[in-house]
Amino acid sequence: MGGEPHEMRIVTKDPTSCSAGIISSGSKAVKIHHLIKAPENNPGSIRKRESWDANELATVFQSPERLPDGTFCEATTVIFRTRGCVWWWNSGCTFCGYFNDVRDDVTVDNLMAQWQAAKDQTNNFEGSEVIKVYTSGTFFEDRENPPEWQEHILRETHERGLRLIVEARAEMCTPEKMAWVAERHPGCVIAIGLEAYDDEVLKFHCNKGFSIKQWNRAVEVLRENKLEVKTYLLFKPPFMSESDSLTHCIEWIRKVGPLSDEVSVNPMNIQRNTIVDRLFRHREYRPPWLWSLVEMIRLVHDVPGRLIVHPTAAGRIRGAHNCGKCDKHVAAAIERYSVSADLREFDGITCDCEKIWASEIELDSSIPVPLGIGIDRRLPPEDSLMSP
Ligand code: SF4
Ligand SMILES: [Zn+2]
Repeated sequence: MGGEPHEMRIVTKDPTSCSAGIISSGSKAVKIHHLIKAPENNPGSIRKRESWDANELATVFQSPERLPDGTFCEATTVIFRTRGCVWWWNSGCTFCGYFNDVRDDVTVDNLMAQWQAAKDQTNNFEGSEVIKVYTSGTFFEDRENPPEWQEHILRETHERGLRLIVEARAEMCTPEKMAWVAERHPGCVIAIGLEAYDDEVLKFHCNKGFSIKQWNRAVEVLRENKLEVKTYLLFKPPFMSESDSLTHCIEWIRKVGPLSDEVSVNPMNIQRNTIVDRLFRHREYRPPWLWSLVEMIRLVHDVPGRLIVHPTAAGRIRGAHNCGKCDKHVAAAIERYSVSADLREFDGITCDCEKIWASEIELDSSIPVPLGIGIDRRLPPEDSLMSP
């Protein structure tokens, strides 16, 4: 596990009403996870988020995919409703809203029923060569998911010759457990949400609960067991400007790319009731521009290994977005690039808002501007200059 919950503290009068404000009111400090969880753990929220049937999946869908040898295929993504992430039980990342799909009482029978439902809804994964099994936490963590269920998924997918991708936290990739996984599904892909190759960003922006050192160790263990390494990076963590996000993410891709089989950049999308959601609602955070992602892709195209950029909720106000007119075309080109790895996907894609984005990047990097400024589609430009 990632050790003790973080000691990052924010001072506030009332943890249930604070907007993650940084200004001291002189009253007692609360830990950041209390700020995240206070509204989430009131009886109404719990009732609402636990109103689902534990035999039902969160979702299952199919999408185009490219294999390591460059061939195209189809993938099925299965998102389970589980007990959730151990790190979330203790603290939680500043941007993670996965708790909406989790509940304490999910049993092995529920998980088996969800796996069967995934097969029923996709005609037994018809046409798919890749299966992504996502559990809103670490797939092979025994406190989160029963080992017999883990074993069932690993063996069944291996016997059927399916390429399996599961997610994990770095510190949970122990030598013993990885040997156990590799024995049941040799070559399984382990995707780790590293988010940033920078310990300060991990601690103060993400509240990630593990360090680069732990990630490096996890990569070594995966390699020793001949498992594949997929690395997620987060584009634009909270408390970071657009320009810094671009500069840092490029640097992180250059560092983790050679150590990973695949790097997947997740541009921030704002999930309900997270720290980032609070910043966003107070106009202190704007999700990234799609233009920043295009620029990033152009600048790291030469890095060896495969780069995927999948902007969730692209074009929406809570996802990576541009001016509203060009979003669909720019997002589609980014999605196509993730499959084709061909920069020509961006040929001819342009819009007037590119100039606004470029001046925002320039201002960010040349004068000390407050975080969160940037064109906000929710407001007329003159209103965005007023204080919230
Ligand atoms: S982002 Fe991953 S590690 Fe962080 S709280 Fe969510 S599920 Fe857990
Ligand atoms: Zn535009």
